Amino acid sequence: MTSKPWLRHYPEEVPPSFDYPKHNLAYFLTRTAELYPDATALDFMGKTMSYRELNEAACRFARSLQGLGVRQGNRVAVMLPNCPQTLIAYFGTLLMGGIVVMTNPMYTPRELEYQLKDSGARTIVTLDLLFDRVRRTAESAGLRQLIITSIKDYLPIPQKWLYPLKARADGLDRKVAYGNGVYAFLALLRRSPSVTVSVQVDPDRDVALLQYTGGTTGLAKGVMLTHSNLVANTIQNRLWAYRSQPGREVYLAALPFFHVFGLTVLLNQAVYLAGKLVIVPRFDPAQLVRTIRRTRPTVFPGAPTMYIALLQRRDIQAGDLSSLDICISGAAPLPMEVQDRFEALSVGRLIEGYGLTEASPVTHANNIWEKRKLGSIGIPFPDTEARIVDPATGEEVPPGTIGELAVRGPQVMKGYWNRPAETAQALKDGWLLTGDMARMDEDGYFYIMDRRKDLILAGGFNVYPREVEEVLYEHPAVQEAVVAGVLDPYRGETVKAYIVLARDADASQEELTAWCRERLAAYKVPRIYEFRDSLPKTMVGKVLRRKLLEEEAERSREE
Ligand code: AMP
Repeated sequence: MTSKPWLRHYPEEVPPSFDYPKHNLAYFLTRTAELYPDATALDFMGKTMSYRELNEAACRFARSLQGLGVRQGNRVAVMLPNCPQTLIAYFGTLLMGGIVVMTNPMYTPRELEYQLKDSGARTIVTLDLLFDRVRRTAESAGLRQLIITSIKDYLPIPQKWLYPLKARADGLDRKVAYGNGVYAFLALLRRSPSVTVSVQVDPDRDVALLQYTGGTTGLAKGVMLTHSNLVANTIQNRLWAYRSQPGREVYLAALPFFHVFGLTVLLNQAVYLAGKLVIVPRFDPAQLVRTIRRTRPTVFPGAPTMYIALLQRRDIQAGDLSSLDICISGAAPLPMEVQDRFEALSVGRLIEGYGLTEASPVTHANNIWEKRKLGSIGIPFPDTEARIVDPATGEEVPPGTIGELAVRGPQVMKGYWNRPAETAQALKDGWLLTGDMARMDEDGYFYIMDRRKDLILAGGFNVYPREVEEVLYEHPAVQEAVVAGVLDPYRGETVKAYIVLARDADASQEELTAWCRERLAAYKVPRIYEFRDSLPKTMVGKVLRRKLLEEEAERSREE
């Protein structure tokens, strides 16, 4: 076996190795604003902003943070949907040497509190509409500054007036400070000078992004991604999509920026290549079709559910998707049927890639230049090594054998924030153990066989059963609970809870749903319940989740 059999599939255009520059991740914006100042950086529901304007706003934000006492290495939480402010806060924080902590806007106060405390973020940028939720958490989480913005701040004039004004949001931009550490985003920007902020970072050592993920053990951990990690993965993506032209591409930004897939493959990529980001604040298939017609995007990275949702629209017409040259599906397995039907409607390719937060995230992708292999996640990116190891011994196994996928490359994380033991488990001699079971064929193509044991992928979102189980266990009527992913034609998988009620206690499905809704983001809340007298267990009393899933499969075969 050659050590890198996949290299022989690289075309001339894609170098197997590259000398990645060493700089602040935000330098991508500085450089593009210098080279293409008038190119459109973003289109938000029709309102556009040039690279010069975006860079100016990011510099003003960097100065604002400094003015508020935020220092290099401090963590700044960004809890926003996709909107121009996300880009401004992200690049502004990076420019002044801060660490961005992307926070899911769907988080409940409890989830938010955990992430803020763990990361030690003292500053948060969020929406007026999320203000109540954040304020309730602010004190217990030790937040010092809440920077509040409104979607309407960056809407085109007509929509601005139609925007449903919440009394509190109205006028929040007139003053800078509102007491108790509350500041208005727009007023802060207006007050700050737009001078270049130059803070020296050590790109190999300094963390740019602290990105939360369940990792392999199920407890949410902060993944430390350095400036170099993210610069490298952005460039690796660009080398792969070699057809992309600087200053020419239009990126459909429907993936959330708070997920590292959206950050690297969309945001960093578009800014690096001076492309236009068409910002989609909320995934709504009908609206998306209208946006595609209006903006004619050329690149559309997405999760499989997004492509499925588009294909289900009756109003999709021949020609609607004809501008799309490259679509990259990731985060969960892409059904081949979806891939074929989608490609029949667009001129370009829908390629499947693979990655994980710990690798910034992309390590593998199918190619855009030759026929792919059925069901494969493709071959490793430039400068990325991959191998399959026996999970028990750590030894490499021969092609065709299933084992754990391990990867090594410049995009692999520095480690988990404040968790040396977990870091040592995941990183061995620079190799990242992904927790995914996979195999490689003789040609060097990889196939994911099974996921980390318990992770549920519901509509592209990761749900860690343990977290949901803990919430269910807190309900007084619940004696035992186990959560697993069951097949769902639309979401790929959906969350199912198996419940054993306490003796003489009662709780309906509706009651448990309401209980979970209060404590968990909507995508984690179980959709299906099964009430049982007991749960299958091992000799030491561990619930056999696998046994439950086997029963599930048995039942669906009988149906
Ligand atoms: P995250 O850290 O949230 O990006 O989740 C990473 C996990 O998503 C991986 O470890 C895989 O289990 C799963 N995943 C990502 N891409 C794919 C894919 N193309 N096929 C199957 N599973 C995938």
